[in-house]
Order: sequence, then structure tokens, then C-alpha cells
Amino acid sequence: MKDGATFRSPLPPPSLLDVLAAPGGHALMLGHVHPDGDVLGTLLALGLALESTGWAVTYAGPHPVPDVLSFLAGSERWQVWSVPPGKFDLIVLTDCPNDARTEGLLDRARSASSRVLNIDHHPDNRLYGTLNWIDASAAATGEMVFDLIRALGLPISPGIALDLFAAIHTDTGSFRYSNTTAKTFRIAADLVAAGAEPAVVSDRLYQRRSRDALGTLGLVLSRIKISEDGAVAWLSIPRGLASDAFLAAEDLVTYPRSIDGVRVALLLREEDAGHVKVSLRGKGDVAVNRIAHRFGGGGHANAAGCTVRGTLEEATGALLAAVELALNGKNA
Ligand code: 5GP
Ligand code: MN
Repeated sequence: MKDGATFRSPLPPPSLLDVLAAPGGHALMLGHVHPDGDVLGTLLALGLALESTGWAVTYAGPHPVPDVLSFLAGSERWQVWSVPPGKFDLIVLTDCPNDARTEGLLDRARSASSRVLNIDHHPDNRLYGTLNWIDASAAATGEMVFDLIRALGLPISPGIALDLFAAIHTDTGSFRYSNTTAKTFRIAADLVAAGAEPAVVSDRLYQRRSRDALGTLGLVLSRIKISEDGAVAWLSIPRGLASDAFLAAEDLVTYPRSIDGVRVALLLREEDAGHVKVSLRGKGDVAVNRIAHRFGGGGHANAAGCTVRGTLEEATGALLAAVELALNGKNA
């Protein structure tokens, strides 16, 4: 069944509640490449809530849980697949705007009769589910999944609360970014009341650096460059300069973003020969997802990404040219 019903609302659609309220076998909570706090926190939280009602739940994705997120409740259940072991009746994806980001796992795990639930807050979601619930006003998919678990009438255990708090904490930059709303704080307060400990989340995310991480951070940050007019700051990282664990734990794009007067910040990271992963951040007036779209990527107005083919120098040059066009209002 591929009916592609789409709901764009802050409220969980009743047909979504109907599917989840009737335990019907085996559910797959499926992640995307390089999973972050929002995707992992929401898949684990929703899966743990559904397990309490009788669903059998498998958690998997193309990449492992990064060490820095290993404190999430249920993360030890996460499986890494290159090929799924079979087909699933129900597949849930959260925070995943584009099914290509599952590296083919969705296509291989779904059959003609699978129900695919696509729950996301990205405005450019490709609506690949049999049911798509998209709320671009949500700061994090964590807010949506909180409302969903509540609407299902399921208990929020301390572990579920921790996972959802971490999802919201990471996607809002610790409640600092412009996506943070009164609703964000209301949900965060409910999660703390349900057992999430903010200090534990901050400790695990930011206070567990290895001894040599600050030296590496200094080395990496010394590479930040700023345009002559001060509007663009970027950081290009060649392969081998820092470990994958370091790069997963450090939100490096926040450093060029933090400079006064910068309107667009870029992090360009050479992943393997010929592939450069790009993170873009805007400060208000430039929609960086429009720049990412030009390179086949996507994201939010203020936070977007893409992968570019070419050398690090070529990718940096191409992105800087596109940012320059966007800043001059010529990319419409
Ligand atoms: P980050 O820079 O933290 O990896 O991602 C920032 C935002 O951009 C996230 O919302 C993420 O989903 C989106 N994003 C990052 N990389 C890609 C990409 O390659 N393709 C698409 N469509 N979105 C991306
Ligand atoms: Mn998100």
C-alpha cells in the first residue's frame, strides 16, 4: 500500500494514531546516515514506547550510534545494516527528509504491503512514506514524537524522557537557536518532570572530551577563514586531520557561526577521496537550504547540508561562489 497520505500540522494525524495504537507485529525504526541526536533520540523513544504496548521493535540504520550519543536509552539495541535481514510490515523513519539518506535500506526493507511512517520537521521532506506527518514549525522531531507518544496515551518513562530531551537539546543547540519556542520549553519541562536530567545530557554531550581533543580542536579552529567583508566564515577539514569520533562529537560549524557579523558559516569535511560533506548555517536572513538544494542537499532555512563531489579545494570554491550569489540576492 503506497497511498502517500500527507499531513502538515502540529497535531499528530488520527490515521497515524490508528496505525500505532493497533500493535500489528514487527516494527522497524529506521535511521539515516550519520545519525544525530534528533533521529536517534526519537526512533529510540518511540520504539521503547511502542514496545510497552506489544509491538516487537527493531532499531537499525546504515551507520552506528556515535560514542557521544551512547548514553541514549535503548542505544545498545541499535543495529548497523548494509542489507536488511528481511521485510517489515511497519517501518518508521524520523527526521529523515529524503529516503536516499537510508542508503537503500528503506527500499530493501519495504514490501508492497509495508506501511512506511515518515515523521519529520524538514520543510523539504520528499514525502516517501505511505503516511507522511510533517511539521516544519517543530524545533526538533523530538517535539513531534513527544506529542505523538502523549496522544497515544503511552507513559513517558525516564529513558524515553532522556531520549526526547536529548533530541530537542541537540537540534536547538542547547535551546539557543531561533527554532526554540515557548512550546520547546514546555515540552522540555514535561520531559524533565518525567525524569530527563538536563545536567546529565549536557555532561554527556559536552563534558567528556578526551585528553587530546582540545589540542586537536585548536589545530582545527586555526584553519577558520573569513571573507573580506566578514559575512562568510568557513572551515575546511582535510581527511586525516582529526578522527571520526572527534568530528562526530564536536559541532564544529558552530565556531565559524559564532563570529560577530557572519551571516553564513560553512564546515567542509573531506569524507573520502572525491567526497566532501558540507554543513551550512545561516544567521537569520539567508536561507542556506536553498544553497544546499543547488548541490543536491537540503535542510532547514538556518541549518542545511549536502555532499559535494570533488577535492576539498574544489568543493570549498564551489560553495563559496554559491554563498556569494545567495548573499547578493541572485540565487532566486
Ligand atoms: P548537519 O550540518 O548538522 O549535518 O545538518 C544540518 C541539517 O541539514 C539537518 O537538518 C540535516 O538533515 C540537513 N542535511 C545535512 N546534510 C544533508 C544532505 O546531504 N542532504 C539533505 N537533504 N539534507 C542534509
Ligand atoms: Mn531534526
